[in-house]
Amino acid sequence: MYKVYGIIGYPVSHSLSPVMHNLAFRELRVKAVYGAFPVKPEDLSQAIRGVKALGISGLSVTIPHKVEVINLLDEIDEKAKEIGAVNTIINREGSLFGTNTDWIGALKAFQEVEVSLSGKRVVILGAGGASLAIIYAMITAGAKEIVVYNRTFEKAKEVAERFSVLAYPWEALYDAYGDILINATSVGLKSFDSPVAKEVVSRFSVVMDSVYIPLETKLLAIAKEENKITIDGLKMLLYQGVEQFKLWTSLMPPVEKMREAIYREVLTMEVDFAPRKGDKTA
Ligand code: NAP
Repeated sequence: MYKVYGIIGYPVSHSLSPVMHNLAFRELRVKAVYGAFPVKPEDLSQAIRGVKALGISGLSVTIPHKVEVINLLDEIDEKAKEIGAVNTIINREGSLFGTNTDWIGALKAFQEVEVSLSGKRVVILGAGGASLAIIYAMITAGAKEIVVYNRTFEKAKEVAERFSVLAYPWEALYDAYGDILINATSVGLKSFDSPVAKEVVSRFSVVMDSVYIPLETKLLAIAKEENKITIDGLKMLLYQGVEQFKLWTSLMPPVEKMREAIYREVLTMEVDFAPRKGDKTA
């Protein structure tokens, strides 16, 4: 019998998770399929009941459900508790177990480009689900100082309190400095906007964007012009997916093939979001 996995979010039509997980199932000859399920916030609890009723084996969870889903699960692990968000559900014989692999995705993205986080001053833009996992990853990797800037300052303060890091208002962003700059807002998603200007980018050595549509965001384009080390959002996506696959199947997925598939897919999506002629990087 085929097992069923999937992603819940709203919207999910552009999700790359089906591409990488279905490829991995095929390559490893695992009898399983992975679908994309658009679930509106008001339908979340019904959807989770449906997971049990239908015997769906596991789920990825994305915007806007990563926090709210916690209360609907039977158990979550310590990491998901500490982060305050779940991106992975495993159906253990009818009992739904939640965990978080986004933070591992963020860590592995840095490891891949051989950037050490130990002792670094890290500036993180945003205080949503992605930010929570990234902050946790930075703490785990031994960052010296972590600073969060968010448009809604109250949220930055909440997050800062939760993790004992620093919070600054969005208006102060122009003065930001440090070793590593990470965009965990949705600024730049399907557009050619950067959350910060070139002057700010120039004060960092490494720039990561969690946005991956387009693959080269305006922020990363500026960082490249400034000769910074850049990390695109697909690396985090790839590695969080690799960890999910391992949790669901206890198998090591074909990472390089998954990587190729999602990079190819995102490049086909980009036509609509490519910078127009005349768009400047700063
Ligand atoms: P979220 O929980 O909805 O948070 C969105 C964040 O973006 C909030 O901090 C929000 O600030 C900020 N924001 C939105 N519009 C803004 C604007 N115009 N100016 C300044 N700040 C703005 O979303 P999320 O789950 O954290 O995801 C954030 C981004 O990361 C998305 O683009 C998502 O695709 C990406 N992501 C990537 C991965 C990956 O694996 N690469 C994983 C997760 C997420 P307020 O608090 O003021 O609203």
